[in-house]
Amino acid sequence: MAEKKSGPLGDLIEELCRLPGLGARSAERVALHLLDAPNEQVLKLAENIGKLKTSIRQCSVCFNLAQGDLCLICQDDSRDRSVICVVELPKDVMGIEGSGAYKGLYHVLGGHIAPLEGIGPDKLNIDSLIGRARDTKVKEIILAMNPTIEGDGTALHISSLLEPIKVKITRPARGLASGATIEFSSKDTIAEAITGRGPLP
Ligand SMILES: [Zn+2]
Repeated sequence: MAEKKSGPLGDLIEELCRLPGLGARSAERVALHLLDAPNEQVLKLAENIGKLKTSIRQCSVCFNLAQGDLCLICQDDSRDRSVICVVELPKDVMGIEGSGAYKGLYHVLGGHIAPLEGIGPDKLNIDSLIGRARDTKVKEIILAMNPTIEGDGTALHISSLLEPIKVKITRPARGLASGATIEFSSKDTIAEAITGRGPLP
């Protein structure tokens, strides 16, 4: 166990420890790195962290992270406006964008329905989604909630609300992750992969 530091360095390490994925040792390494880094670089980092809370807000259309009224994706005219991919959180948008496989628009719910945690449908951006789905230009809604019990429940709830609207509703294919082996996949993953099997690619 590393020796506990006091003063500003100790305070910084303590704050960094709260970040996801940073244990005590990595927090200390980051703090010591910053101590040695050029002033300019450290101030820039502090400035960007400060701006996170003041200049980043929610897109008024899709609730993704945005700097102005609209996020970069909603602003982009080259995106396919006939498809809306519904996700739980902005980090899911980042994940799907990172795949490069999707060129449509998004709708960020802000989480999933979880009655035990007091999160009912009214706490999520669902009404606005239904409003967007009524636009006749929208042809398909992809319900890309996480494949968890709550995610599936949320998808089911939304699909029942979308039913009266003439729009195609899809869910991403699920099953074995590419690169995964059957031996190390969970029972649920294997079951989904077998039941949802398709023709050879
Ligand atoms: Zn947007």
